[in-house]
Amino acid sequence: MDEFPTYPSGLRLTGRRVVVVGGGHVAQRRVPHLIAVGADVHLVSPEVTPAIEGMIGAGEVTWQERGFEDADLDGAWYVIAATADTAVNEQVSAAAETRRIFCVRSDDATQATAWTPAVGRHAGVTVGVLSQRDPRRSAAVRDEILEGLREGTLAARHEKDRTPGVVLVGGGPGDPELISVAGRKALMEADVVVADRLAPRELLGDLPADVELIDVAKLPRGRSAQQEEINRVIVDRALAGKVVVRFKGGDNFVFGRGYEEVLACREAGVPVTVIPGLTSPIAVPAVAGIPVTHRGVAHEFTVISGHLPPGHPESLTNWSAVGAQTGTVVLMMAVENAPAIATALIEGGRSASTPVAVVCDGTMPGERTVLATLGGLATALAENGVRPPAIIVIGEVVAVAHPAVFGGRAAGEGRTGASRL
Ligand code: SAH
Repeated sequence: MDEFPTYPSGLRLTGRRVVVVGGGHVAQRRVPHLIAVGADVHLVSPEVTPAIEGMIGAGEVTWQERGFEDADLDGAWYVIAATADTAVNEQVSAAAETRRIFCVRSDDATQATAWTPAVGRHAGVTVGVLSQRDPRRSAAVRDEILEGLREGTLAARHEKDRTPGVVLVGGGPGDPELISVAGRKALMEADVVVADRLAPRELLGDLPADVELIDVAKLPRGRSAQQEEINRVIVDRALAGKVVVRFKGGDNFVFGRGYEEVLACREAGVPVTVIPGLTSPIAVPAVAGIPVTHRGVAHEFTVISGHLPPGHPESLTNWSAVGAQTGTVVLMMAVENAPAIATALIEGGRSASTPVAVVCDGTMPGERTVLATLGGLATALAENGVRPPAIIVIGEVVAVAHPAVFGGRAAGEGRTGASRL
């Protein structure tokens, strides 16, 4: 028999008065959950943390800016005593007991009439775990259950969302851990997955066996023929009643032709939703240790496709204007045209000594970074045999990340004096 037996219950607090006494870190952790279920939260405390102040400012919580009085509990359904002062918590407990209101205590659970479980949610299921006064164990058990549900290793049968349609899912830059929780869930619930070459492949190995996997790399080639075929496939399957996931690397709307797919679905009357992904021009440098902005160094970053060389009749980029910018420039799909782009940027005014980092196979096992200057980029790419996929980061942020290589230029130290590479 447990020393402290508890009877679990899911309280439906929507629209009901809940009083939280205390405005410190315990209250800060509890209040968002109460707000999330629509409770009518009243907080009593002479002081509150800045985060709680934000919730008060947003009108999500009302605040009595003073010490606790027994009458604060009148009309309440549930009470949380979360002050740092045991005497106050005892007073709250006693007032709650008199009124027969369940009361949680942050200081001494043995004196409380209710305990807060470790809580997590996944796909319409709420997991709440209580232990014998061992909150770390509760949290660890909760985490394992949630992970099992997310990964599908806990084969709890559940109703999938069966509404036919297309979901555009951004898979992130490559590492399978870097997809969003929503993206992963959509993938696991799909009937059909239409996947790109750059989509994180390892995630496809976890798909249930009955899922139809369509590999875009195997569709007819040619820039528009392939896209038309993709549009046709996703629309056809959705019209046949399937849940279709269009799965791409990074984010579907960043050089991913995702919006063409949205338009094709709309035209066919197929419902379409979008789950964004971590996009490679920001995520790949980040994982390689390079920030795209840094205080006092870069107040802008420009992401540009380099799939067309400067001067190409279809190019929409004004490269000399980009050369005149001082912020970070991130080039994608640019390995082939990088030499011509570097020349155009230098002609536009960017210094040939500007530091450059080329990150290849970012976030994946073979990730490597090649460092160069803008003037030496063409040689560095050739000498290192750089192949796509690669992200090219141009700007002083590269020197901030690699001070030893770029002559120790520290944040804000200016744009001159680069050592030759
Ligand atoms: N939708 C994707 C980009 C597709 S364009 C996104 O949001 O990230 C393809 C280009 O993205 C590649 O040529 C390369 O420049 C870049 N890229 C994508 N994943 C990458 C990775 N893991 N490492 C380096 N570059 C990557």
